[in-house]
Amino acid sequence: MTLESLYERIRDSSLRLTKGKLAVLECLYHQHASLTAQEIFDRVSTQSDLESLDLVTVYRTLEALTKIGVVEQVEHSVKGRKFQIAGRSHSHTVHCIVCGVDVEMKECLLESIEQKIEAQTGFRALRHTVNFYGECALCISSEHEA
Ligand SMILES: [Zn+2]
Ligand SMILES: [Zn+2]
Repeated sequence: MTLESLYERIRDSSLRLTKGKLAVLECLYHQHASLTAQEIFDRVSTQSDLESLDLVTVYRTLEALTKIGVVEQVEHSVKGRKFQIAGRSHSHTVHCIVCGVDVEMKECLLESIEQKIEAQTGFRALRHTVNFYGECALCISSEHEA
């Protein structure tokens, strides 16, 4: 999936391709992970030509992009709603309940499970939201030192 093909899907919809939308989309595209609206805003608002962009506009943009199926939402156990490019092979985060760090897995480990569910139920285009949490290696090792 290229960034250009995503632009095209926005052009084909009734949405206007604004600078803000482009920036949000580009940010998600290059991130290869899901981000909260705040995280997207933090990354995008540093661009000099987007000083007028506010968090509310980022939210509205994400809602609009979700509606036309370019972006999809996932639920994070602690951070709440996160966003990612729809239909792209995605990854999962493991959240440390002690220090709060998020460690990104390189791939989704559940695709084979989805394929099994699809085979058994006839469902198509399954999606999932899964939260992994525990204690990270760093927290465990500092526990042992104490
Ligand atoms: Zn930790
Ligand atoms: Zn997954």
